[in-house]
Amino acid sequence: MKLRIIFSIIASRLTRFGLRILGRGGTALPGKVALKICPDILRTLARDVKTIVITGTNGKTTSSRIVEQILTEAGLSYFANRSGANLIQGIVAEFAMHSKVTGKPKCDYAVIECDEAASVMVCKYINPVVVLVTNIFGDQLDRFGDVMNTLENVKAGIKNSPSAVICLNADCSLSASIAREIENQVIFYGVDTEIYRERIPEVSDAAHCIFCKARYEYDYSTYGHLGGFNCPKCGYKRPQPRVAVGKILNQSADSTTVEMLVDGETLVACISIPGGYNIYNAAAGMAVALALGISKDAAARALAGVESGFGRMEKLPLGGVSARMILVKNPAGCNQVLNFLSNMDGQALFVICLNDNVGDGRDVSWIWDVSFEILGTMGDRLSGVIASGIRAHEMALRLKYAGLPVEKLRVIPDYDQLIDAMAGQDKPVVIMPTYSAMMELREKIAGKYGLKDFWE
Ligand SMILES: [Zn+2]
Repeated sequence: MKLRIIFSIIASRLTRFGLRILGRGGTALPGKVALKICPDILRTLARDVKTIVITGTNGKTTSSRIVEQILTEAGLSYFANRSGANLIQGIVAEFAMHSKVTGKPKCDYAVIECDEAASVMVCKYINPVVVLVTNIFGDQLDRFGDVMNTLENVKAGIKNSPSAVICLNADCSLSASIAREIENQVIFYGVDTEIYRERIPEVSDAAHCIFCKARYEYDYSTYGHLGGFNCPKCGYKRPQPRVAVGKILNQSADSTTVEMLVDGETLVACISIPGGYNIYNAAAGMAVALALGISKDAAARALAGVESGFGRMEKLPLGGVSARMILVKNPAGCNQVLNFLSNMDGQALFVICLNDNVGDGRDVSWIWDVSFEILGTMGDRLSGVIASGIRAHEMALRLKYAGLPVEKLRVIPDYDQLIDAMAGQDKPVVIMPTYSAMMELREKIAGKYGLKDFWE
C-alpha cells in the first residue's frame, strides 16, 4: 500500500512535469494518473492537512484568493488549487504536488476551490476543517442542472464533512437553509444594506420559500435573490450573521471600503478588488478567518492586499490603457458585471466577447436573460460597446434590442482587431468574455503585451 502511494505521487508529478514541458497546464491528467494507481490517494494525502473547501455557484475563485491572502497574513503555510482545476482529478494532482513522496504533507493548510457536484466526493476523502458556501444561483450554462440540484449537491458535500465549521451566506435563502439540516457549527456572513446606487432588475432564482413555498418578503435586497428575506407564512428568515457588512463607505473602480460588524465589533475594511459581489467574497473570507481562529484584524489587513485572479476582475496589460477582464458563466454573473460597470465613476469602454464553444455552453440564448438594458441608461459614462467573439453578431442584436444607441455599438468579431481597437483609445476597458473567448483573448494579449501563463 505504502509503495503504491509513493508510485502514485511520483507518476502524477512526472505527468504534470511532462505536460509543462509540452507547454500545457491545468489539465486533469496528473490527477487521473494518481487515481488510477491508487484510488484512495486523496484520503491519504489530505489526512494531515487542514483543508478549507470553497464551493457555491459564483465567487469561488475570488473567495479562495481572499482566504489564501488571510492565511498568508496569519503566517500559515498552505497550498491552493489555483489554476481552477476544481474537479476531483485536479484536486488530487494539487495534493500530490504538495506532499512529500511518502505522502506526508508539505503544508499545514490547503485552500481548495471545489465544483458543487464534485464536493460530495471531495469532502468525503478530504474531511475539511471549514466548508465555505458562497451562494447558490441558477446557472444556465451549468452542466449539473438547476438550482435545487446544486443545493442538494452542496448539502451532500457538507454532510460528508462532519468535523467542519460551515460558513454560509445569510442573505442567500438557499444556502442559509442548509443550516437546518446539519449538526456542524455554522458561521453566517452577510450584507446588511443595499450595495448598488442603481441596479438591474433581475429575475429571482429563489422568490419562494424553500420550506413552505410562500413568496418571500424583503427588507432590502443586494442582488439576485440575496438580501434581507423573510417568509411571512412559516417564519423562515435571514439569520443574523456573525460577520455583517453594515455600510458601504466607498466604491471605486479599484476597491471598495466597507464597515464590517464582526462578533459585535465594528471595523473598517478596504477590499482591494472592486465590484459589489466582492463585498460578499470579503465577508466570506472574514467568516473563514473566524472559523480558523485567525484574528479579525489580520483578516481585514489581508482584504486590502488581495489581487484579483485569473479572469476575475483581472488587470490586463494593454499598452497604456487600463483593462479589467471578468469571466462570465451565467446571467447572474453577467448582471453583476453590468452593475459594476454602471456604478463606476468616470467613462468606460465595454467589451463583450461571446463564444459558443463547448466550454462556453453551445446555447447562447441566455444573453436574452441578462439585463443589458442598463447600458442604454448610462449616457456619457459609457464611451462605447464592442461586441466580439464567434457570436458577435447575435450579441450586437441583443444590444440593439436593449436600446443601446447604434452609434455606440461596434461589432469586431476578430480578437486581433479587437485588441488594436481597445489599445487605440484612452478610456478604461471592462471586458466580459465567456470561457473560451477569455482563453483566446488572453493568449493574444500575452503575445502582444506579455502576460503570465495562468497556471503559474
Ligand atoms: Zn416559508
